[in-house]
Amino acid sequence: MDALDRASRTGPADLHANALVWDNHGCLPMEAPDRWLDDLDRYRRAGVDVAGVNIGDSHVPLEELIHNVARLRAHVKQHPDRYVLVGTAAAILEAKAAGKLAIFFDVEGAFSIGDNLSLIELYYELGVRWMAMVYNIANNVGSGCHDAVDGGLTPFGRRVVEEMDRVGMLKCCTHTGYRTAMDVMNNTDKPVVFSHSNPRALRDHPRNIPDELVDACARIGGVVCINGIGIFLGANDASVKTFVDHIDHVVQRVGAAHVGVGLDYVFDQEGLGGIIAQSAALWPPEGGYQQDIAFMAPERLPEVTEELLRRGYAEDDVRGVLGGNLWRVARQVWV
Ligand SMILES: [Zn+2]
Repeated sequence: MDALDRASRTGPADLHANALVWDNHGCLPMEAPDRWLDDLDRYRRAGVDVAGVNIGDSHVPLEELIHNVARLRAHVKQHPDRYVLVGTAAAILEAKAAGKLAIFFDVEGAFSIGDNLSLIELYYELGVRWMAMVYNIANNVGSGCHDAVDGGLTPFGRRVVEEMDRVGMLKCCTHTGYRTAMDVMNNTDKPVVFSHSNPRALRDHPRNIPDELVDACARIGGVVCINGIGIFLGANDASVKTFVDHIDHVVQRVGAAHVGVGLDYVFDQEGLGGIIAQSAALWPPEGGYQQDIAFMAPERLPEVTEELLRRGYAEDDVRGVLGGNLWRVARQVWV
């Protein structure tokens, strides 16, 4: 390595390389497993250390979800030089030290568990480490962010919260209605995440969360992970500047210890329109879903680090936002 190389590796790039970089939510093309090797490896090549990979959302039934997780587990195990399935905070540090992408799974909404609480522990054993309570519209647990009326957490939903806490499954309130999310946070003593939600103060969209939810999440030690989808950031604006504006709003409101990253990157963007067209209830036209949606790709995360430093963020705060804060919550909640 000559002097020029060394110089180019100091500063923001060095901080980013050494930090734990955690993208809390991404979506692979489930119908095209032959693409996974390239798609998952994009995270690794982009310097991401931990990736939460979705195995089902909205109304994906249990059987389909099991097929998805089985294929992904097999894929990860077939490429042990690149990937490792992690279930503990300690295993994440081991994966980073070994230069492997740490992978866990997530489920968006409790739809697929129906009324069977014991599935939560099965999901956990399969590698799921967070589950959103509700996806956009009501299920057995409560109401979604696109429901006209939010009835709050149901009696069954309270049992789901208890069981998730017992099992060590992190509770996520993204996609969940305001009152239901508040009820979840008032019925637990463990931190909760908004795994991929932006502040509504900067972009008035039903998928975004009012400051009161940001405050409640921080109060119980949780983390709000900023989403990289253009329609939730601004007028279909997935720029680094706007993404960092959203980080900064939450930091100014509740402190840098309560912010993370959940890009919600969709690898098969061509297929997305067809999925959204299937349900106007899940993705209402007034939400702006029916357009060529802009995404912030994981490859742009080093620019987020640069922008945070440029705005005067302390290095420790940048490390927290990039992944240290989510790691703290994982260490507290995952058992
Ligand atoms: Zn989502």
